[in-house]
Amino acid sequence: MKWLKWLILLLLVFSTNVSYAHETAQPIFKVHLQSHQKIIALTFDDGPDPYNTPKLLDVLRKGSVKATFFVLGKRANKYPTLLKRIAREGHEIGNHGYSHRQFRKLTPRELSWEIRNTDHIIIKSVGKKPHSFRSPYGEVTSAIENVASQVGYNFIEWSIDPRDWEKGQTAQRIQRAVESHLHTGGIVLLHDGGGNRQETVKAVRALIRELKKKGYVFATITELTNMNK
Ligand SMILES: [Zn+2]
Repeated sequence: MKWLKWLILLLLVFSTNVSYAHETAQPIFKVHLQSHQKIIALTFDDGPDPYNTPKLLDVLRKGSVKATFFVLGKRANKYPTLLKRIAREGHEIGNHGYSHRQFRKLTPRELSWEIRNTDHIIIKSVGKKPHSFRSPYGEVTSAIENVASQVGYNFIEWSIDPRDWEKGQTAQRIQRAVESHLHTGGIVLLHDGGGNRQETVKAVRALIRELKKKGYVFATITELTNMNK
């Protein structure tokens, strides 16, 4: 029955190939919604940060708003309690790579390590596989798309960028920049890591109030991307 053994082996190889034959992860900049409902997703990159993230979580909790945190593996590893708090309070955790390197300059091996290692750290800490990935600096290459899809990710970019990381940026300017680019299905890029984000936290507090007045509802990235399926 040697042939049977070969057949089984062949089938196994074939089915393995099929399960890895993902389409590449095309980046998503915004979500085209069928309904006219006003929905927006707030996203926060480069954390968790022991100074900014708790303050931001307090503001989100007060406003009953769920957001998405694209965390760095390196920081998630250092602050597992903070990562657990983000998850416990109902926010989505996304993968932003391990150490914020420029992915287009990495070898395929380094690139894969950045994404897979962060994936493991998040799963180990919160017990749930993340679904959303954003590359550092929003870089897009076919190598990044391939690894992201192999690890089972949606590749998420953004459609509204108030440049909250800029030196001398104020809460008011961040708020105005978001409000002047508002659209349903929009993805807002903000940061809770990489420096003092006090102005971002203040802006988020004001944005929650003002956007709710305009009739907007806040969603996590996975909630938003599931809406047009
Ligand atoms: Zn970043």
